[in-house]
Amino acid sequence: MSRRRISIFGATGSIGVNTVDLIARAPERFEVVALTGGHNVALLAEQARQLGAQFVATAHAEQGAALAEALAGSGIACGAGPAAMDEAAARDADWVMSAIVGAAGLKPGLQALERGATLALANKESLVCAGALMLQTAARANATLLPVDSEHSAVFQALTGEPRGAVERIVITASGGAFRDWSHAQMREATPEQAAAHPNWSMGQRITIDSASMFNKSMEVIETHEFFGIDPDRIEVLVHPESLVHALVGFSDGALMAHLGPPDMRHAIGYALNWPERHPLPVERLDLARIGSLNFAAPDETRFPALRLAREVMAAGGLSGAVFNAAKERALDGFLARQLRFTDMSVVVEEVLAQMWSRGGLGNAAMSLDNVLAADAEARRRAGEVIAGRQ
Ligand code: NDP
Ligand code: MG
Repeated sequence: MSRRRISIFGATGSIGVNTVDLIARAPERFEVVALTGGHNVALLAEQARQLGAQFVATAHAEQGAALAEALAGSGIACGAGPAAMDEAAARDADWVMSAIVGAAGLKPGLQALERGATLALANKESLVCAGALMLQTAARANATLLPVDSEHSAVFQALTGEPRGAVERIVITASGGAFRDWSHAQMREATPEQAAAHPNWSMGQRITIDSASMFNKSMEVIETHEFFGIDPDRIEVLVHPESLVHALVGFSDGALMAHLGPPDMRHAIGYALNWPERHPLPVERLDLARIGSLNFAAPDETRFPALRLAREVMAAGGLSGAVFNAAKERALDGFLARQLRFTDMSVVVEEVLAQMWSRGGLGNAAMSLDNVLAADAEARRRAGEVIAGRQ
C-alpha cells in the first residue's frame, strides 16, 4: 500500500505536536511532504528530522537563517517568509493538517483545498471568517474537508450513515473554561495567566483564553453552522464541566446521539488522519463507572456575551464572521498586552461589529480571499482604535 502524503501547517503548536506524535508512531503509513511553523524553528527542525520531511517553512523571513542552520546536514529543503509558506502549501500532499492559529491559517488551507487535498481543519477561524469560500473551493476542486475541533469531529462521527434530513438539532458542549463559575466582577480583574489555565484541555494559549471568554465556543457555533449547513436556531451550547461528552446530535425520532471520549485531541486528529477507516489510537479509555456522573447546565449569555454576538454574526452573514474574528484576535492581543480588561474583549468586538454594520455592505458582500482579508484588516484597525480609546 502506498504511504499517505502528509503536510502539517502549524506543526510546532499544540495541535501540530499531537499530529506529529501520531504520525511518528506509524512511519510505514505516512510520508511527510511539508511542515510549517512560526517562531519555534528549533522544534520545527527537530520535527522535520524526526519525520524525514521533504520541505520545511517558517512564516517569518527573519527566522530563515536559524532554520537553515538547525537543518544543516539533513538534506531537508527549507525556506522562510510568505513565498516559502506558499511553496509548502503547493507541495502535493494528499492530506493536510490546518493547525495555524488565527486568520493566518485561512490562505494556506484554501491553497490546499484548491489542489484537491483532504484538509483536516483544526483552524476554526477559516470557517468563521470565510465558511462559504472554504466550502465552495472544496466543492470546485473536489477536495475533502474534515473537522478536527473535538466537538465537530464528534458531530461528524454521530452523523455518519444518518439521513441529514432527520437532524433536528446539534448540541456542542463547553467546559465553561477557567472562569465558568466566576462573577462578572471577578472576571473583570482576571489576568492572562488566570485565563490561560484550562481545567480540562491542554491547548495553545490563545484558544485557552478564548475558552475562558467563551469566544471559542461562539466561534464553534459559527463553525457548526458553516460546516454542517444547519440553521443557527438548531445549534445549542451546553456547559459540561467534565469535557467527556463532546457533542450530541438530535434526530427527528427523538434520539440523541452523544459522542464521548477523554479530553485528548489525539482522538479527533487521529480520526481525521485515518478517515474513513478507524485505527487504534493512544488515548485513554473512559471508565464511566469510575467517573460516576456527568453534569450539564445552560450557558450564561449575560456573563459570556460572546455567545450572543455569534448569533448576531450568523444572522448578518457575509463578511461579518471575518470582522468578528479579527476584532476578537485584536482584543485578545490587547488583553495579553494588559491594555484591556478580560471583560472588555467582548465590548471591543461588539463595538467594531456595530461600526462596520452601520456602514453597511458586510452582510451581502461577495466573498473572496481578498475581501475577507480586507475586512479582517479593517476590523483589526478599528479594534485597535477602540482599545486605545478605552485606555
Ligand atoms: P498554538 O498557538 O499552540 O500553535 C499555533 C501554530 O501556528 C504554531 O505552529 C505557530 O508557530 C503557528 N503560527 C502562529 N502564528 C502564525 C502565523 N502568523 N503564520 C504562520 N504560522 C503561525 O495553537 P493550537 O495548536 O492550540 O491551535 C491551532 C488551531 O487549532 C487554532 O485555530 C485553534 O483554534 C484550533 N484548535 C486547537 C485545539 C487545541 O487543542 N489546541 C482544539 C481545537 C481547535 P510557532 O509556535 O512556531 O510560532
Ligand atoms: Mg473545540
